[in-house]
Amino acid sequence: MNKVDSPIQSLGNVVVISAPSGAGKTSICDAIARSDGAVYSVSYTTRSPRQGEKNGKEYFFVDESNFKKMIKSDKFAEWAKVHGNYYGTPRELLDKTLKSGKNIFLEIDVRGGMNIKKQYPQACMIFIMAPDLKTLEKRLVVRNKDRKETINIRLNNAKKELTYLHKYEYLVVNRKLKDSVVAIKTIVKSLEYKIKKDQRYFD
Ligand code: 5GP
Repeated sequence: MNKVDSPIQSLGNVVVISAPSGAGKTSICDAIARSDGAVYSVSYTTRSPRQGEKNGKEYFFVDESNFKKMIKSDKFAEWAKVHGNYYGTPRELLDKTLKSGKNIFLEIDVRGGMNIKKQYPQACMIFIMAPDLKTLEKRLVVRNKDRKETINIRLNNAKKELTYLHKYEYLVVNRKLKDSVVAIKTIVKSLEYKIKKDQRYFD
């Protein structure tokens, strides 16, 4: 057990943010990152970079054989195959950030979220969703150059992801970006005052 003299010196928090495609997770997280200098975990993935994405910024792009080597050498805190590609959260930055007392944000899928919660039971679990499935579909159509089948796949995935909702602690319905950013900042701020079960405070 870690002994700390004051709660202020306690460890950072893991903040898991999951959302169906089209709910607005990336815009919200970008806004939070810009304003707070929060630490975001950069995942490894085997998917190809999209236009404008830079290695080490959005993701570390690796091939499947390297990804599998990393799994074997226990480099990931969690990993999952999402939409046919592998994604993994590097363990080193996560643990280093927590030890330094800072919060770390993980934008990961629902299965990754469950995996993290098992290892970090005090992780703060936030689910972001559009006001309803119709709106989600509209957003996918508007923002996406994807074909109809791709949009349908994403919508079906959204329904599956929603079955995990009750395993999360907070739901942010993303109507307006600005309000959602405030909501998540408020949730994260409250973590400063949360009593951590594995920490000693005054004895
Ligand atoms: P995209 O390829 O559109 O950036 O992400 C696809 C999905 O993979 C999103 O739901 C995203 O949250 C999830 N994802 C990104 N990084 C990770 C990760 O490290 N682990 C897991 N489990 N999911 C991830």
